[in-house]
Amino acid sequence: MLKGIGASEGYGIGKVMLVEEHSLEYTPKVVTDTEAEIKRYKDAVDTFVQQTMEQAEALKSSAGEKEAEIMQGHIAIIMDPFMGGEIEKLVAAGTCAEAAVEQMCDMFIGIFSATDDDLTRQRAADVKDIKTAMLSILLGIKEVKISDAPAGTVLVAKEVTPSMTAGINKENIVGIITETGSQTSHSAILARAMEIPAVLSVPNVLSQLSSGERVIVDGSAGEIITAPTDEQAAEYETKREAFLREKRELELYRGKKTVSASGEEYELCCNIGSPKDAGKAMDSDGEGVGLFRTEFLFMDRTSLPTEDEQFDAYKAAAQILKGKPLIIRTLDIGGDKEIPYLGLEKEENPFMGFRAIRYCLKNRDMFKSQIKAILRASAFGDVRIMFPLITALEELREGKALVEEAKNDLRNSGIAFNENIPVGVMTETAASGVIADLLAKEADFFSIGTNDLTGYTMACDRGNSDVSYLYSPFQPSVLRMIKSIIENGRKNNIPVGMCGEAAANPMMIPLLMSFGLTEFSVSSVSVLKVRKNISKWTKAEADAVAEKVMAMETEKEITEYLSSII
Ligand code: PEP
Ligand code: MG
Repeated sequence: MLKGIGASEGYGIGKVMLVEEHSLEYTPKVVTDTEAEIKRYKDAVDTFVQQTMEQAEALKSSAGEKEAEIMQGHIAIIMDPFMGGEIEKLVAAGTCAEAAVEQMCDMFIGIFSATDDDLTRQRAADVKDIKTAMLSILLGIKEVKISDAPAGTVLVAKEVTPSMTAGINKENIVGIITETGSQTSHSAILARAMEIPAVLSVPNVLSQLSSGERVIVDGSAGEIITAPTDEQAAEYETKREAFLREKRELELYRGKKTVSASGEEYELCCNIGSPKDAGKAMDSDGEGVGLFRTEFLFMDRTSLPTEDEQFDAYKAAAQILKGKPLIIRTLDIGGDKEIPYLGLEKEENPFMGFRAIRYCLKNRDMFKSQIKAILRASAFGDVRIMFPLITALEELREGKALVEEAKNDLRNSGIAFNENIPVGVMTETAASGVIADLLAKEADFFSIGTNDLTGYTMACDRGNSDVSYLYSPFQPSVLRMIKSIIENGRKNNIPVGMCGEAAANPMMIPLLMSFGLTEFSVSSVSVLKVRKNISKWTKAEADAVAEKVMAMETEKEITEYLSSII
């Protein structure tokens, strides 16, 4: 048996498909038969063009015309007569095709990356993609195609990236196993959103399993059963059925309000990453969106989305929500969320570095265009703006000033928006927790991001399995932080929600009810479960639990007690 972190509940029994990253290293050769080498290069170009055309076709139906156009652009670059001509000249002079392609691509990447113009810099990312694909073809590396995975497949990869998810067919993938990640890494969030059982952070799992091998993924316990016996397979099949039965029972909570056993009402919203997810949020009976992670609109492409493209996405989400609240978080890049075409420099400490609101306030044109897009969407629903990673009051003030500037621009152009759009703070840093009293006077709402708040309070990287024993929202320090944020929000009459993963934790729910949280924002799949859990507690019971917990001294004591009473 292999152990990891159970990051998406449920049980999957199936056959392993390893998704490995291949090395593109080769030993450059001096070519004597240059004609044959030029032919090898030209054949590789033909294969590249055919592959890319197929990918563009597939993208057209899964992601849309615009993404498909990016792929078609790659064909134009590789067919460019100058580029092709220079590569052929290098080969004719004795350079092998791999080295010639690499040399030319690197030259273009260097030129494009060195400019100040965003669009030109984004071309560098295109050329990088082309280089990787061409070298893979020339080196004869066969990429595993996730979209071709047969029914009953367990995906095993270093990590699940958003681009990989595009290829996942939910019907065929019965489990996910990764080497890295934690409860709150994006691999986990994506697995939960797709309702696929997942076990993450299994050390060296890629070298421990082989393709075709039968395994059981226990996403609830965080275990992988290798070479299962027939008895084990039958036992897990029973567990799987019971799990699915419980899911059906939760349906009783569909269409109901979110109320405690003593009648207090709460708002129960969803976390989303795209307009499509807004549909899922509504299908799951969410009462709105408490967190729209906009960085997914910026990922998996090679250039910044324009103001209009963003407006279309935000407006589409607002329209799907039909007047229900939609909290749009401004770009939260950095840390574990990379956007290659922005060309951000590698940092020693990316989680503490130039990211999120810090990056946005220094890239004002880009930030303003996002804010304008959000403002324009506010004419189509109850749209609200939220800033991530706030650590100082000035950041909130500067962000709000930019919102005012953007409003002015729109007013001057006669474009409609909500003049009273609420602007809130994502309280997810230790600093924002400590100055919650100051922030609450100038923010229209708070949303507690426990994923980062836990990390920043505990000085503990959420993706690092060596320190995961410290990473818990039930640490007394984190609970005090959460309580204080909620109390400061209440004192200043602003609503306080929670959009971190802890909001869906049944052990956390009575504490949050007692502290006075007004909104829970969870992944769509958790909506009914959270509603059921809230309905179990009266306010007085929740207060009694909270009082006991807040007097405890260690995380162990707290979690042992809470797990004994839920
Ligand atoms: C958080 O930090 O709690 C959060 C919800 O944001 P993200 O997971 O996107 O960092
Ligand atoms: Mg965060």
